[in-house]
Amino acid sequence: MINVEALTFHYKTTPVFENFNWQAQSGDSWAVLGPSGCGKSTLLALLAGLRFPSAGKVRINGEILKRPRPHTGLILQDYGLLPWATVRQNAGLGLAVRAFYGADGIHAPRELSRNLPVESWLERLGLNAMADKYPAQLSGGQRQRTAIARTLALQPDLLLMDEPFSSLDAPTREALQTLTMELVAEHGLTLVMVTHSIEEAALLGRKILLLNEPPNHAAHVIENTSAGKPGYRDNAEYQALCRELREKM
Ligand code: ADP
Ligand code: MG
Repeated sequence: MINVEALTFHYKTTPVFENFNWQAQSGDSWAVLGPSGCGKSTLLALLAGLRFPSAGKVRINGEILKRPRPHTGLILQDYGLLPWATVRQNAGLGLAVRAFYGADGIHAPRELSRNLPVESWLERLGLNAMADKYPAQLSGGQRQRTAIARTLALQPDLLLMDEPFSSLDAPTREALQTLTMELVAEHGLTLVMVTHSIEEAALLGRKILLLNEPPNHAAHVIENTSAGKPGYRDNAEYQALCRELREKM
């Protein structure tokens, strides 16, 4: 699904990535873990087609990425909801934009559909009772669930998340981590979630890509095949992995 080939990327002089190779298979759940400033958000922007390599290539399904793909979903920490639109309107926003511009973002507008298939997503994300409220009336967790509904309504095959739960309280974060794992399994998504939290990486990443102080040369990958199994949070294997990651970070 994702092939990063001999990637070099720099903003200024010091490269963030230098001759960096990494692959992700379709259906994998990856956590990208590393300290602040190591290049996690930069990698996600390169995978999203929002930034481009200084040298080397990023391929998705074999194609060199030249612009954002319609089937890549991107979820950020600060939700990106429109304050003047309700939960239902925010959740339907991506669909409304797609209906207007066409799936490739290039072709002529089609007529805006009034019955966008957003209700089933509101239901799945537990937002029915909130559908007519505005973002300011919601908790952080409800806002992030609205952003997830908006993204998944576009039926992505690749979901990119940049520290999506880091501003939420612990119980809300845990509930959304579990929900994310369920949604990824239900829809067969490929997930790349960026986090600086060792626990979050160990919980969600069936594979963990460890980044360090730039420049990143080799991809350090840790297998974590038990991630996502029920009760993994209380498992000795999970705790041993957290210790290992803490030592390596
Ligand atoms: P992370 O998400 O892991 O915290 P980033 O990918 O945001 O790290 O940043 C990686 C490095 O690139 C950091 O040293 C950061 O200061 C630098 N950087 C990030 N964005 C820019 C930018 N727009 N211009 C210049 N340097 C940047
Ligand atoms: Mg970041």
